[in-house]
Amino acid sequence: MPNYTYLIIGGGMTADSAARGIREIDSSGTIGMISQELDAPYDRPPLTKGLWKDKKLDSIWRHTQDRKVGLHLGRKVVAIDVQRQSVQDDQGNIYTFNKLLLATGGTPRRLPFGDERIIYYRTVRDYQRLRELTEKGKRFAVIGGGFIGSEIAAALAMNQREVVMVFPGSSIGGHLFPRDLSEFLNQFYRQKGVEVLAGESVSDLESRGDQLVLKTKNGRETVVSGVVAGLGIQPNIELARLTGLTVNDGIIVDELLRTSHPDIYAAGDVAEFHNPALGKRLRVEHEDNANTMGRRAGRNMAGKSEPYDHLPFFYSDLFELGYEAVGELDGRLETVADWKEPYREGVIYYLRDRRVRGVLLWNVWGQVDHARQLIAEPGPFRPEDLKGRLPKAD
Ligand SMILES: Cc1cc2nc3c(=O)[nH]c(=O)nc-3n(C[C@H](O)[C@H](O)[C@H](O)COP(=O)(O)OP(=O)(O)OC[C@H]3O[C@@H](n4cnc5c(N)ncnc54)[C@H](O)[C@@H]3O)c2cc1C
Repeated sequence: MPNYTYLIIGGGMTADSAARGIREIDSSGTIGMISQELDAPYDRPPLTKGLWKDKKLDSIWRHTQDRKVGLHLGRKVVAIDVQRQSVQDDQGNIYTFNKLLLATGGTPRRLPFGDERIIYYRTVRDYQRLRELTEKGKRFAVIGGGFIGSEIAAALAMNQREVVMVFPGSSIGGHLFPRDLSEFLNQFYRQKGVEVLAGESVSDLESRGDQLVLKTKNGRETVVSGVVAGLGIQPNIELARLTGLTVNDGIIVDELLRTSHPDIYAAGDVAEFHNPALGKRLRVEHEDNANTMGRRAGRNMAGKSEPYDHLPFFYSDLFELGYEAVGELDGRLETVADWKEPYREGVIYYLRDRRVRGVLLWNVWGQVDHARQLIAEPGPFRPEDLKGRLPKAD
């Protein structure tokens, strides 16, 4: 029975960052990591970006083993015994711990049909499967107009594949961006050769030889070599719920990233935390949060008492366009756009009650900290106060 000072459930970016955080404080305590994935931790963002450009697969690995971590791959933790400070995996193995971290992330949402023929894109194995299909096939369907859908559609189109994108909303990134910007994105994708079927949903999928026939609710049919879906994730909170930990949309943690049990921590996509800058609870599904929160959880597990007060940023690439963003990006908020060149370069401020709640830096770089400062300011702001505020010279 392996006994660990620190046991981490999950093998994603949060888990790896936590192991790094622990090692910054404690060089000798034993660390174990149990992951359902067959691969050791790696960076996920390149799966929809760099790996379709010039980045090599070798560059994504995080080399967790180098920090003296016992990796138990291809195993799912099915139970936590709080009294005995132990967990059990799906092969019946028991592991004990002094401190436990839940870094269980999320599972892609699925459609009620199509099963294994649809690639619910999240892991390096999904990337490899899609890569293989693109070596033979020419035309692909992408379901979803959010982060994963818009990025993988761009990646496939940039690799000379025909792409049809299907999503129920009216425009790409519609939940994030003001309407004019997301409508511009529909046109932009169409100019890049992507067939954009907005306001459409998939009703069925049939196999025809080695091809797939995708049917939409409005009666369209399209024959493709592969179907990729990006429909968002469901946070993996079940284990925490079964253990009696407090859960909501995510696993609730305090400012030191402890769950309702003092020896059990949670971080990353699965954790719900209070953010002082926005004055509300958040659950964030982005890289900066995974890395920063994971590291902080690891340091606190190893004896530090450092509150997590970081306001995470996120980013995305859409063909040659790209952005960084901080705070609440909700297309329903009041927005003030300050374009240097419309839809090519500029800043969009998201406001509620005359305070800045979020900032979108569209092809504007190196301004994330300035955006955070603006969100921390009490205001009140009028639209004319914001014009020209960013970018700021350092
Ligand atoms: C393709 C892709 C592209 C992305 N691009 C960007 C981007 O451009 N910018 C950005 O900011 N963010 C991006 N993200 C989001 C970012 O990668 C995630 O926020 C981050 O990976 C979350 O890490 P995590 O470790 O918290 O969760 P996950 O990555 O979901 O990892 C959870 C791990 O826990 C394991 N697990 C779950 N339950 C159990 C269990 N019971 N037992 C054992 N193991 C378990 C899973 O197998 C997995 O290994 C992207 C994500 C994806 C998928």
